[in-house]
Amino acid sequence: MPNPDVSPQSDFIREIIEDDFKTDKHKGHVATRFPPEPNGYLHIGHAKSVCLNFGIAAQYNGTCNLRMDDTDPAGESLEFVESIINDVHWLGFDWENRLFFASDYFEQLYQFAVRLIKDGKAYVDSLSADEIREYRGTLTKPGKESPYRSRSIEESLGLFTRMRAGEFDDGTHVLRSKIDMASPNVTMRDPVIYRIKRAPHYRTGNDWVIYPMYDFAHCLSDSIEKITHSICTLEFENNRPLYDWFVNELIAEDRPNQIEFARLNLSYTMLSKRRLIELVDKGYVSGWDDPRMPTVAGMRRRGYTPEAIRNFCARIGVAKNDNLVDINLLESCVREDLNERAPRALGVLRPLKVTIDNYPDGQVEELECANHPQKPEMGTRKIPFSKVLYIEQDDFDENPPKKYKRLAPGKEVRLRSSYIIKHQSTLKDEKTGEVVELHCSYDPETRSGPPPDGRKVEGVIHWVSAEHAIPVEVRLYDRLFQVADPAGSDQDFVTLLNPNSLEILNLCHVEPSLKDAAPGSGYQFERLGYFCVDVKDSNMGGRPVFNRIVQLRESWGKISGKK
Ligand code: ATP
Ligand code: MG
Repeated sequence: MPNPDVSPQSDFIREIIEDDFKTDKHKGHVATRFPPEPNGYLHIGHAKSVCLNFGIAAQYNGTCNLRMDDTDPAGESLEFVESIINDVHWLGFDWENRLFFASDYFEQLYQFAVRLIKDGKAYVDSLSADEIREYRGTLTKPGKESPYRSRSIEESLGLFTRMRAGEFDDGTHVLRSKIDMASPNVTMRDPVIYRIKRAPHYRTGNDWVIYPMYDFAHCLSDSIEKITHSICTLEFENNRPLYDWFVNELIAEDRPNQIEFARLNLSYTMLSKRRLIELVDKGYVSGWDDPRMPTVAGMRRRGYTPEAIRNFCARIGVAKNDNLVDINLLESCVREDLNERAPRALGVLRPLKVTIDNYPDGQVEELECANHPQKPEMGTRKIPFSKVLYIEQDDFDENPPKKYKRLAPGKEVRLRSSYIIKHQSTLKDEKTGEVVELHCSYDPETRSGPPPDGRKVEGVIHWVSAEHAIPVEVRLYDRLFQVADPAGSDQDFVTLLNPNSLEILNLCHVEPSLKDAAPGSGYQFERLGYFCVDVKDSNMGGRPVFNRIVQLRESWGKISGKK
């Protein structure tokens, strides 16, 4: 599978790479990697990193590895590995035979640590975690050396061997690098590089009871894989000197370079994995692939396309400054892509029965409809027309405002791809006063064009034939959070959830051609928005479920923007 994202882009990272070409650093090679920790599903922020790393490799004829950064047994699992593999593939990228696991490097990493001890560059510390934190100092307070810092190389080696052998309890000892307790960069104050953790690892089982820390494992995994440009998010900027320290101590040549970029923050969305895990575990959403989730799995189920997501990532670009990207941009990318590729269909979400009094009982006409108004190559389909129809409740107004273009008492409207009808009478529920049915007449002369007498009928509404339509469930999604920047709020994020983020409509009807709609495929329901067949809950022979992917026009942002 080719990597699709080859349209060349330009940004400060690509500039660095092009400068490296000029100085022949890395001998003209470009090797990147996408290094997720398999402790959750990928989200749209990860997608940005995927597009960046794979996109750069494609642009410069390089390679991009997929590496599971699985050095912390807590929370990691095969389910997450599989979801990541699936999601990166779905986004359109391929790593050929370069799927790697940091856990495969455990022995090498251990040997790196032993070398540091032997070089006098690491020592076993036996302070408690609290003491280590206290000794580390703060930005304004210098650190203090541990009394164990002067342990002999032999003693540290012996203890480290016994740590690995499982002789000690969690938290009794750690291995620390010996750098500089007075460094103004707190990260450089003898950071811990190994800890004891008696937890089974989803791949290495009980082989290990000590695990390397991220800062140590990450840069060395990059080195083992001969990564040239190690691209990560800004919060690791302070860790770069440490990254460089480890590779300088341990790697002889062609060391990788870390480059940081601003992570994606998206309005009305939370992209912290910890928070997403909480949403799933506590049941605020139906799972990682809940269509309201900002996960790749959720967006796929919702009906977003990989092309739309890649286009979004290209448009936001990469920069050095954190900012909040408007979710409307993502939605407009989805809309733009679906406008091109989604076949049109008729569906009615909140049905109002319409009887065409002058249409012959039992007659059915098959009306030919274009699947896409601008793309004849997408073909046509037949839609049945009959005496009893459903239209949208919203498309009838008893007391219409001026210039109302839909159906109103005594008025005419065109049914999409069909006849002009005229309102005759309204039936109401005696008790509630609710409109339950309309009686209309149709003009048989108007099936394929304007009325011969030249009268003007401007409005067009959608409809389905009641007898032929398929009853379906439609799920309307809205923002998962009610506030623009939930991650920036100090309120409990659960209180910021939008209680109306999911609305389920059960009386919807769609045109019969959709009975063969493939699960996951997207349609434009004319005048309503884009919808896709839910891959999980649809019963295609019985009752399909459609997810609203996105509305036809941006509405929500504008309304809430006024608040
Ligand atoms: P956590 O920090 O909660 O462990 P994470 O989101 O950093 O989670 P990782 O699995 O470590 O999760 O991320 C894999 C890669 O994706 C990293 O290189 C990280 O920099 C990148 N990444 C994560 N979140 C974003 C984001 N919001 N925008 C861009 N890149 C991101
Ligand atoms: Mg991380």
